[in-house]
Amino acid sequence: MTMTAEGTPIPPGQWLGLLGGGQLGRMFCMAAQSLGYKVAVLDPGADSPAGNVADRHVHADYLDPAGLARLSAIARAATTEFENVPASALEFLARTARVSPAAESVAIAQDRIREKGFLAEHGFAVAPFAVLVSERDASGVDAALVPGIVKSARMGYDGKGQIRVSATTDVAAAFRAMGGMPCVLERFVDLACEVSVIVARDGRGATATWPVAENRHRDGILDVSIVPARVPAALAVRAREVATEVAAALDYRGVLCVEMFVTRDGALLVNEIAPRPHNSGHYTVDACVTSQFEQQVRVLAGLPLGDTRQHEPAVMVNLLGDLWFENAGATAPREPDWPAVLGHPQAKLHLYGKAEARRGRKMGHVTCLAPTLDEALDVAKAIKRSLGIPGADEI
Ligand code: AMP
Repeated sequence: MTMTAEGTPIPPGQWLGLLGGGQLGRMFCMAAQSLGYKVAVLDPGADSPAGNVADRHVHADYLDPAGLARLSAIARAATTEFENVPASALEFLARTARVSPAAESVAIAQDRIREKGFLAEHGFAVAPFAVLVSERDASGVDAALVPGIVKSARMGYDGKGQIRVSATTDVAAAFRAMGGMPCVLERFVDLACEVSVIVARDGRGATATWPVAENRHRDGILDVSIVPARVPAALAVRAREVATEVAAALDYRGVLCVEMFVTRDGALLVNEIAPRPHNSGHYTVDACVTSQFEQQVRVLAGLPLGDTRQHEPAVMVNLLGDLWFENAGATAPREPDWPAVLGHPQAKLHLYGKAEARRGRKMGHVTCLAPTLDEALDVAKAIKRSLGIPGADEI
């Protein structure tokens, strides 16, 4: 197979490749297939949300050269659905296929030390932080960085790999509890809210952003995204500009999520970046002209970017595996009360087809749409109550 020229469109009917078998991959497959593409998914799991809907499932490890070769023999272009994909897998595929995002962008996003360093070097505001790679670093931190959070540099997601510290003397113990792995210590920021912007950037540098999502977390996991975010208009404009600037600084190609903190004094700090579609952008599937997944297909295939306009206010509610258990002590899962969700005509239910429900595992989401944000919030609250998801009154 010869190298696919940058920018040459790959028309529908051709094959696209995907590394990763999770729900983001599943929604990528569905978007690609509805545009007429075929998708080959490489994933080690036998039963995966994306593998189950893909046109072909290459059942192999991400570093298996034979599996990667099979993927690149089928697909002219490939992408990834999770940032912890080994950069070398993307580099392998890039020898014969168009790969977006580039391995280098993924490598920056998968390591908090590189990510924060990159953002700070390029002039983006971030929470004050220090890099901890040794006991010495951990025992000599600046008092201005506490209270704070020690975060592992790699493999942290959904609040995992984080320890809160209230005094400088706690930092060394937290570093040790992380197994002495490279970490960052980040100053605890007084948050007004958390927001995110999904941005798409194509091979010619054209960009498009979606409206700003306001994100509420529960136990470190995204619970609800409210769009448009309830922030001042100027701040929303700035958040979209920041996302566009981050994508440009990375010379990014693909769909990127930029998560930001809004502090109580109105500052916008970049928290982290995800080199792929993001949970906080799931609302785009039902509420926007072009979804984040269709855009990922468009960039990968070298098609023009689609319109990102939102046609209705939306509130997305995540459905975690906890819902499959009647109460805290239950051990046997049972199916949640779907008719209660489907009884709301403005609610769009998405289930990821995961065979096993586990507490804290993302199993699906519901997007509530209405002519006003208040009405969409009311539908989301009603759904939370009827399914027994905590926090209906907090959104
Ligand atoms: P992260 O994995 O970095 O996104 O952190 C998970 C969650 O912890 C964030 O969504 C915030 O709710 C909270 N958090 C992380 N870092 C900070 C910080 N520096 N100040 C305040 N809250 C934070």
